[in-house]
Amino acid sequence: MINDISVYVHIPFCERKCGYCSFYSAPSDEQTRAAYAKALCRSIGSYRTMHHECPSVYFGGGTPTVMESESLIMVLDKIREVFDLDDDAELTIEANPGTVDLKKLTELREAGFNRISFGVQSLVDEELSALGRIHTAADALAAVNDAVKAGFDNISCDMMIGIPKQTSGSMLYTADRLSELPVSHISAYMLSVEKGTPFYETGVEPDDELQANMYLDLCERLEKKGFDHYEISNFARNGKVSRHNTRYWKGESYLGFGPSAHSYYDDERRSCDDSTDQYIKQSVQHDTVNELFPDKLEEYIMLGLRLSEGIFFNGLRIYGASEETIESIRKKALELSAYGICTVTDTGIALTEAGFLASNAVIGEFIDLC
Ligand code: SF4
Repeated sequence: MINDISVYVHIPFCERKCGYCSFYSAPSDEQTRAAYAKALCRSIGSYRTMHHECPSVYFGGGTPTVMESESLIMVLDKIREVFDLDDDAELTIEANPGTVDLKKLTELREAGFNRISFGVQSLVDEELSALGRIHTAADALAAVNDAVKAGFDNISCDMMIGIPKQTSGSMLYTADRLSELPVSHISAYMLSVEKGTPFYETGVEPDDELQANMYLDLCERLEKKGFDHYEISNFARNGKVSRHNTRYWKGESYLGFGPSAHSYYDDERRSCDDSTDQYIKQSVQHDTVNELFPDKLEEYIMLGLRLSEGIFFNGLRIYGASEETIESIRKKALELSAYGICTVTDTGIALTEAGFLASNAVIGEFIDLC
């Protein structure tokens, strides 16, 4: 039985593909975007009988702001019609700084979006060109300022670690400049090069050691600037964590609309095929069930250790771990704590920033004990 559910909407359009991007997105024309908005509304409308409370909505992509405001607003209004949005629901839209102006941002804010997440990546123009981004540093600064003028007071910016030719100094320059802006949230991702991307084809290879050092430098700098490092890649000021993403990390239910979108509810993980053409043609979204009854204990460990609050021994109990398993995990954590990888208290285990860098291996070790 689901108590409440978050809604994700995937907008699979971008003006141009960035060299490193493996997300499902492509250029589009106006007619396709309008048809896609209608297809989204049909699929969302098919959930009319669910009557679930909805604490958060997230329009991601791709680049949602490539889509015309009227289409975005039509989809948001359909969500409002079908789900019982909480009065204080967090309504986020991702935006590429090269695709917005004050008019568009004002329309989105007036329509009800109350959080905006800009894909800034860097405030150094050479680094932006190396990534193949369509915007400059000046565009990004202007977009944030326009968002403030439009009435957004919950602004997030993504930045990237390990861009070709980036140095720790230039990465910290971006972090410092973002910190000077009225930005309440920063997501910092390490550049990873996936098969099939132009970066992969041309042999771009991030330097792991340099990236790790930059990550630690960034954590230190953002904490000095008043950001709380609440998740491996996420930092928030004034308590403005991403409520939508925190629900993913806490294993809460969500419903994803659009090609390549994932859903998790009623003990099922589902995904929608990644074909925009097919999505537009079909009457309502067709999902494939990828996993039934996912292992909640494993998920609790895997997702919980991404958060700086970590996992709790009581949480392990709730998800079915025996006292012996909990004791083995506690012992392993004590061993790792001697290397500065995690901290262990009477109530639970949390990774340190050095531990976040080795999180996959550490999480694997804990899961092997279950
Ligand atoms: S704007 Fe974002 S989603 Fe679009 S191609 Fe670039 S990285 Fe990918």
